[in-house]
Amino acid sequence: MTDVLLRGGLPWGLGSPADILVSDGLIQQVGPGLAAPGAQVADVTGQLVLPGLVEAHCHLDKTLYGGPWVPHSADDTLAGRIGNDLGRRAELGVPDPGRIAALLGRMSAAGTTHVRTHTDIDPRVGLRGVEAVREAAARVPVEVSQVAFPQHGLLTNPGTAELLEEALKSGVEAVGGLDPAGIDRDPVRSLDVIFGLAERYGARVDIHLHDGGTLGGWELELIIERTRALGLGGRVAVSHAYALGQLDEAHQGRLVEGLAEAGVALVTAAVYSFPVPPVKRLRAAGVTLACGHDGIRDLWGPYGSGDMLERAMHVAYRSTFRRDDDIELALHAATYGGARLLGLDGYGLAPGDRADLVVLPCGGPAEAVVVHPARTLVMKDGVVLHN
Ligand SMILES: [Zn+2]
Repeated sequence: MTDVLLRGGLPWGLGSPADILVSDGLIQQVGPGLAAPGAQVADVTGQLVLPGLVEAHCHLDKTLYGGPWVPHSADDTLAGRIGNDLGRRAELGVPDPGRIAALLGRMSAAGTTHVRTHTDIDPRVGLRGVEAVREAAARVPVEVSQVAFPQHGLLTNPGTAELLEEALKSGVEAVGGLDPAGIDRDPVRSLDVIFGLAERYGARVDIHLHDGGTLGGWELELIIERTRALGLGGRVAVSHAYALGQLDEAHQGRLVEGLAEAGVALVTAAVYSFPVPPVKRLRAAGVTLACGHDGIRDLWGPYGSGDMLERAMHVAYRSTFRRDDDIELALHAATYGGARLLGLDGYGLAPGDRADLVVLPCGGPAEAVVVHPARTLVMKDGVVLHN
């Protein structure tokens, strides 16, 4: 593998220009004026260098990306969207490894190096989504981990729990859930199944929680209690957690402390007008916060570009951030926050870290989020992919 020297970039957080020398897939040295005879040199003078972007919540298996535009015709209700999804999947050939690979290719070109995707598991689709995602992921240099996701209910859709177990047996990394109260109508039993599977298979947990207000707050408490009781801190996440953005400050504060203490992470997508969790408060308390697109160009909605810097902009915008240091929190969610959620080792910009890097024509992180310009260079495991 050829050594690569990135000359004169601005590594995020370093505060001054530095060269980065990469060999054997790792960052070897970071500093000014490095000598590297024989190395491939990329002059990135004055350009921002970030670690690889992390897409922490998407639904690759559902995507229509890369094909012709499919007019979105679902009724604007949850039932309408579910009906549209179930009714048109077969007609449109979803899941399709070709479209999933096209989307992963777009993500990679935009600097994403790691993806967590929630893959539908139910008696109709079985494990076909899991297999399609695996097939696509093998074609693109992005690391993809899957969450076995009961999109149409776990307790309310007989046969789903058994299929989740099959998915975990086949090597899927995490078990998901969906509104243990609002969808499954029995949060205690729903969480029994999810956490039981996590314990049995050593899987991580990532639960979609749309239930709002005090109901959603109570479910967060239940998840915090389970995580503590089973010693699963650092391995459990809640996606969306709209309730947290709706509760009064005191109630929100107690939950944020509980999440921090138990080691439960949050993932936000900041889509449409749904409530966004309190980003600054979560970071101040030490809660891991990651972000992702949720659906990208699928039967649930037509939006999403696959660019995690654009997604970080939505998180910052929806959080009413204007100051650079605030906007930088959204970038943190799209990088270090996602890496912590996934438990990545050797993630960052220090010697010894894996050489997963993105270079942008920007002077700083807030500009990268707001402008999200075309990437100058993307590197995965020391290999320049896009330049
Ligand atoms: Zn989702």
